[in-house]
Amino acid sequence: PLVVFGSINIDMVARLHHFPAPGETLHAQGTDLGLGGKGANQAVAVARLGAEVLLMGRTGDDMFADYAATSLRRRGVGPDGLFRSPGDTTGLAMICTDSAGENTIVVAGGANLAMDGDDVARLVPLLTPGAIVLMQCEIPMDTILAAARRVDAAGATLILDPAPVPDAGLPDELFRLATLMTPNETETERLTGLRPHDPDSARQAAGRLHQKGLRRAIIKLGARGVLYSDESGHGFIPPFHVTAIDSVAAGDCFNGGLAVALSQGLDLARATRFAAACGALATTRKGAADAAPTREEVEGLLSA
Ligand code: ADP
Repeated sequence: PLVVFGSINIDMVARLHHFPAPGETLHAQGTDLGLGGKGANQAVAVARLGAEVLLMGRTGDDMFADYAATSLRRRGVGPDGLFRSPGDTTGLAMICTDSAGENTIVVAGGANLAMDGDDVARLVPLLTPGAIVLMQCEIPMDTILAAARRVDAAGATLILDPAPVPDAGLPDELFRLATLMTPNETETERLTGLRPHDPDSARQAAGRLHQKGLRRAIIKLGARGVLYSDESGHGFIPPFHVTAIDSVAAGDCFNGGLAVALSQGLDLARATRFAAACGALATTRKGAADAAPTREEVEGLLSA
């Protein structure tokens, strides 16, 4: 199976002309309420491509939990892996955007931060050698590490999105446990000390990740393309040309697409290209989970 083990948030967006100063009260031009959290976004991206997915994550036991479950179900992600965490609040992201396109974001992790060994125990029975597990870094690192150990022991595939990179960095062991990591430019810099900006510098940064024990690296350079690298070599996928209006969740749609492509047996080069098309299409639409493309759209772009 394809399993996402990660975060679920409700995104509350207020559109403003300018950000409030301390002590100031402003009227918003408009608001949006939506589904977010990297785990939820990646699960929705998989479902949008027509593949089955199980999202294992926690919501609180508040009214946002119902909203999250309903939003997920409407987008093809069922409730079986969801757990209502007693006494916790559902993860919230409070986002303000201004007329210059800047944003400020406050995340309250809530129930996501309560994910623990009990969730890992729920994951274990699903871990067969053919299983693909998607993780991100919006849940406690101890839990990520414990889950990664079980995925590795089962011979399953772990696609780890090191986003966001924790202040303390990633534990060394994770580089050996993950089958594949998918850092963007800033995450790559945090992990390797090198900021990639072109195929050469990305290849160099990938080399540093391999030195840490990582088998497969995919370095996402936004509008500049993607580098993939493993023991059999490396390659570069130039960017797809699209009209980008909102890059939110492009990386999540990329990872969802990558998992679907790998689950269908595509090699690293072809899976990366498929994923890059998913990421590119996601930038043509507003929103987080709702930006994910369908398989028809991806195939259209791949054959254009
Ligand atoms: P993240 O969202 O994690 O920061 P990126 O910004 O690198 O990651 O976006 C993820 C992927 O989406 C990129 O690797 C690329 O394939 C695609 N992508 C993002 N922005 C663009 C763009 N402006 N044009 C084409 N493809 C894009």
